[in-house]
Amino acid sequence: MEKRIIILGGGYAGVLTAKKLARRFKKDDSVQITLIDKNRYHTMMTELHEVAANRVDEDSIRISLRKIFAGRKVDVVTDKISVIDYEKQTLTGELDVYPYDYLVMASGSQPAYYGIPGAETYSYKLWSYNDAMRLRAHTTKVFEKAMNETDPVEKQRLLTFYIAGAGFTGVEMAGELAEWCDSLAEQFEVARDEVRIIEVDMLDRVVPTLTPELSAKAQRRLEKMGVKVILKAGIHEIGDGYIIFKKDDQVIRDETRTVIWTAGTEGAQINKDSTALKQGGRSRLVADSYLRAEGKNNVYIVGDSMFYIPEGAKAPVPQMVENCEHSASEVAHNLAVEITGQGEMKAYHPSFHGVMVCIGGRYGLALVGGDKKKFALPSFFAMFVKHLINIVYFIQVLGWNKVFSYLRHEFFTIRKKRSFVGGHFSNRTPSFMLVPLRLLLGGTWLFEAVVKIQEGWMNTPKLTGFFSGAASVFEKAIQGANYVPDATAAASTEAVPAATDAVASASTAVVETTGAVTQAVWDKALVNWDIFGLIQVELIKIANASSSLIGYALRFPNVVTEWMKSNVILVSEGSMLFFQNMIVVSEILIGLALIGGLFTFLASAYSLVLLVMFLMTTGLYLGQWWMVAAGLAVLFGGGSVFGLDYYAMPWLKKVWKKIPWVKKSYLYND
Ligand SMILES: Cc1cc2nc3c(=O)[nH]c(=O)nc-3n(C[C@H](O)[C@H](O)[C@H](O)COP(=O)(O)OP(=O)(O)OC[C@H]3O[C@@H](n4cnc5c(N)ncnc54)[C@H](O)[C@@H]3O)c2cc1C
Repeated sequence: MEKRIIILGGGYAGVLTAKKLARRFKKDDSVQITLIDKNRYHTMMTELHEVAANRVDEDSIRISLRKIFAGRKVDVVTDKISVIDYEKQTLTGELDVYPYDYLVMASGSQPAYYGIPGAETYSYKLWSYNDAMRLRAHTTKVFEKAMNETDPVEKQRLLTFYIAGAGFTGVEMAGELAEWCDSLAEQFEVARDEVRIIEVDMLDRVVPTLTPELSAKAQRRLEKMGVKVILKAGIHEIGDGYIIFKKDDQVIRDETRTVIWTAGTEGAQINKDSTALKQGGRSRLVADSYLRAEGKNNVYIVGDSMFYIPEGAKAPVPQMVENCEHSASEVAHNLAVEITGQGEMKAYHPSFHGVMVCIGGRYGLALVGGDKKKFALPSFFAMFVKHLINIVYFIQVLGWNKVFSYLRHEFFTIRKKRSFVGGHFSNRTPSFMLVPLRLLLGGTWLFEAVVKIQEGWMNTPKLTGFFSGAASVFEKAIQGANYVPDATAAASTEAVPAATDAVASASTAVVETTGAVTQAVWDKALVNWDIFGLIQVELIKIANASSSLIGYALRFPNVVTEWMKSNVILVSEGSMLFFQNMIVVSEILIGLALIGGLFTFLASAYSLVLLVMFLMTTGLYLGQWWMVAAGLAVLFGGGSVFGLDYYAMPWLKKVWKKIPWVKKSYLYND
């Protein structure tokens, strides 16, 4: 009989569990997997503050569940579940009733307000995509209002931002907001020092999951960014336009239009309502060591929903993404064992590798390591690791599609240099400026092909002399007086001219350097390894020492190149002609494609491949290196204007994205 698995929640834990189960039961038609979420998309909760403070666009944190599970054995259902009957084994949503044999609770958590008057009604939370969008719109609006506000009290109220909570969500939000306020103040003509950002918490230090030294560092950074941190202060009330908190027995009321609530979490409402299950912490569901709900062997718990104290630990597992990842693997494994009866269930012994906190887009703190020892990372590496971890996660969830889009959002289109690598990757040149370069590169390749045709490349084998000539130039330079010419090179009348010919085949260069002495400028240390060698050779004409040409050859991997030459390319006249023709035809195709701006990416990538081949065989002269730079410059988007790609690419993209295996392997770019 068919077994129905339902996963409730498409957050980190739910998505990863579903993916692992789909892989496990790929060929098993007796198992049906359904993922239910109230939203059509998966939200990157860890990046909410970046959207809320306008660092990145909203689509960077919203990933379509349909796309994630395209071509996979998971049915995605959009519905909000309001009741779970654990006896009848059904979930009831707004649209339907869903029976299950096995249920995975991945419903996550929600903000906890601890009964503080007005907190839920008057504060802005940061726990969903919509929350982030609402906060971003509100912040822009208060600045807009402040710009024209004539009443100084109201103006101050509009420009005062409170953040309740100095855990890592609160600190990340405060840092991000402080950074954004710099440009908002400029945009809306408000003096920056009129903007107040205040972070309040009951605790005695910020981000208590860090060491005291790192907490102090985080606080100093916030203060440097203009955030006032008030610790050991309890919030009493939040109302329409004000906040009341108590600090050192003093009750303080302040006027504000914005309180952002990050002061704590509790289990999602559906967990709270699941009174048939044992609860722990704040409405989290108590799990046994196999991550099943206590007393309900067909209900599993993953991610933030779970309350579980691992053996030997003092505290429950943290509500963090790493716990989602570990528990998803564990639940997928145990569930598969239970359904198939094969293998053994594993008890949950997670090991966590640290905490990372970003304070704005340019600064981060990290405490990483194993269970026994953790160490702090300098800011640059903390930010680097954070991005790397996100990328690893995206590869699991939406493959290269999401990795590309993440890199685009975080680095290539980042606003106001708000990244740890600044704005170096985001400054953009309009594509039309690349058109002359594209045409020049294309024209040069066509010219190269025409010269080669005139030299007889299409019907006279030339490669033996060409290669040996080039080799002799470089060997002579390296070995100096010890150089004994190789018989082929000596015999070849084309030896030196051919060597200088490299890519350009420019007849002027050939004439000038004939009879030149060669001198290795930069070679020995590298070349003798015979694995990697970059030789730079200066060719000096005896008669006129001021006339020099500089050539480079890359001997990597020397063994492979030599083997290719003697066993494939030079084995017969026929093989030589084949490669010569191939090069000429390639040059023509690259030239035409670049001039027409059609398949520019492929043409410039192929252009780079040819140049690398030349560098590894005959060498590449200084005069040709601009082609490498040009190939790189037009690689992305070089043909997107004033070229045929402008019309062809959108159509091709549409067709490409419809192919089932493309959808399944996420090999497209949105
Ligand atoms: C601003 C912010 C920054 C953070 N930064 C970090 C960080 O840097 N590192 C880190 O490790 N962690 C961070 N966290 C915590 C991390 O986001 C959570 O641990 C993680 O999201 C938990 O994943 P989950 O899948 O258990 O739950 P969630 O991601 O909350 O997903 C639960 C899903 O269940 C769905 N759902 C709930 N109830 C229902 C229902 N009744 N019907 C249908 N669907 C339902 C929801 O729509 C949601 O999609 C951060 C959190 C926030 C808010």
